[in-house]
Amino acid sequence: MATLLTGKPVVDRLAQELAPRIEALGRAGIAPTLAIVRMGERPDDLSYERTAKKRAESLGIAVHPFVLPEDAPQEALEAALDEVNADDSIHGCLLFRPLPAHIDEARACELLAPRKDVDGITLASLASVFTDGGTGFPPSTAAACLELLDHYEVPLEGKRVAVAGRSLVVGKPVSMMLLRRNATVTLCHSRTENLADVVREADVVICATGRARMFGAEFFRPGQTVLDVGINFDAEGNLCGDVDFDQAEPIVDALTPVPRGLGTVTTSVTMAHTVTAAEAALAAPAGG
Ligand code: NDP
Repeated sequence: MATLLTGKPVVDRLAQELAPRIEALGRAGIAPTLAIVRMGERPDDLSYERTAKKRAESLGIAVHPFVLPEDAPQEALEAALDEVNADDSIHGCLLFRPLPAHIDEARACELLAPRKDVDGITLASLASVFTDGGTGFPPSTAAACLELLDHYEVPLEGKRVAVAGRSLVVGKPVSMMLLRRNATVTLCHSRTENLADVVREADVVICATGRARMFGAEFFRPGQTVLDVGINFDAEGNLCGDVDFDQAEPIVDALTPVPRGLGTVTTSVTMAHTVTAAEAALAAPAGG
């Protein structure tokens, strides 16, 4: 039976750490504020927005929504992002993606000021994941993986980590962050040969493929810690991860569940980034 690495204790600890920082900002007359920019009414965007608002409210972080119709032109989105950049009362911004097909997403992402890029979507933020220092923040999901591993004191130095999935949102940045922690990282993808053998070799496994329950018993062995980043719906419409929980749980040492695992930590990491951005704005105002 695996130990369940649930997100709640991590979320609670982050909330405790943020409380005095948010109070200090309040004493300086600053309410940390997160802009949420959304185009259209995609159910997963709406669901994430509800979760983010609830979490923000519970922490004392303000949310400033910018909602555009799904068919709004590129210029309208860019105007909203310009407004976010220019408004000193906004410290962080979440731009929901994927954006509608007629939008040039790369161009839109690059418009966001890196100091407000609390989810690591600009090239400047991503560059800072690959180098030490720099502006911006790592993508929240990648940072959430490290937050959870550290919370549960999972050793990383010298350990073999297999990351399945190489997107810029999860796989690539988390690999770089693990490398910086002196893990030996194997970054896998859809062309990786003998994926099950590679994953079974690892001490820590991060599954981020977006393939419902693809990681069955053959991928695992005793002694492993498994993080399931996937948020998928199976054919019956049930929420599930990339890991086949029922098959993996009797084998591995520790495993994150879906739901109640990493997803909830991701939201808190975005809030923590927003507070850090607000502190940075207080220390060095944009216009000053
Ligand atoms: P992408 O679709 O952008 O990337 C998926 C990656 O998985 C690609 O690199 C792809 O390889 C790889 N892949 C797909 N199929 C296989 C396979 N059969 N074997 C090995 N590798 C495979 O997804 P994201 O990174 O955006 O998201 C991944 C999952 O994480 C999704 O379920 C998503 O919902 C979830 N997610 C969860 C978040 C959270 O907060 N918990 C936040 C963001 C995402 P290739 O590059 O070769 O195509």
